[in-house]
Amino acid sequence: MMDSSDLPKNRHLAVTIRGFEHYSGWLTAGEQYAMVADLRKIVAQAPLMSPVTASGKPMSVRMTSAGSLGWVSDRSGYRYSPRHPSGMGWPAIPRSILAVWEAVAPGARAPESCLVNFYGPEAKMGMHQDRDETDFTQPVVSISLGDDGRFRIGNATRGGATETLWLRSGDVMVMGGAARLYYHGVDRIAPDTSLLLPKGGRINITLRVVT
Ligand code: FE
Repeated sequence: MMDSSDLPKNRHLAVTIRGFEHYSGWLTAGEQYAMVADLRKIVAQAPLMSPVTASGKPMSVRMTSAGSLGWVSDRSGYRYSPRHPSGMGWPAIPRSILAVWEAVAPGARAPESCLVNFYGPEAKMGMHQDRDETDFTQPVVSISLGDDGRFRIGNATRGGATETLWLRSGDVMVMGGAARLYYHGVDRIAPDTSLLLPKGGRINITLRVVT
């Protein structure tokens, strides 16, 4: 007879929308606070940046990275880089974050990049594909912390009908299989919906295999 103590850590079933696996409430409150403490150490070493697009427009999110490759964006374009613009290597991906990858993406290669995006109350992310990596058989895993964000899921090509769902603090999303290359974005942040971050806002952590 199985009781709840036999259930593995990945105790939640995902709700799948267009191949996007949404694990609602994956992280406990304690795990979320511990992860934020780990992120503060990353930001102390690799400060948040306000990237600009290739056309020179500032993006509304602020970002930094951990892992062997981080995401940088400037007038020469977007790319993965082994160094923060300061010239330093990126901090290691914290154990607390790797544990999520291992649980929801069993069998996948180890993530090389942990992108940390900070969304203030006005920030958003336009519809895009994640396609700057080499191996699209490897999933992308996203962790939400802080205020709720409205996530929009599109299609394999730009345009067409979309669906939205709210990502809340502690939720995990896996984009794998066909959904790996689906268009997606964040419409808006709902301010003051979480007490996790003292000054509010939303953090999205994205784990990827890059090479
Ligand atoms: Fe993305």
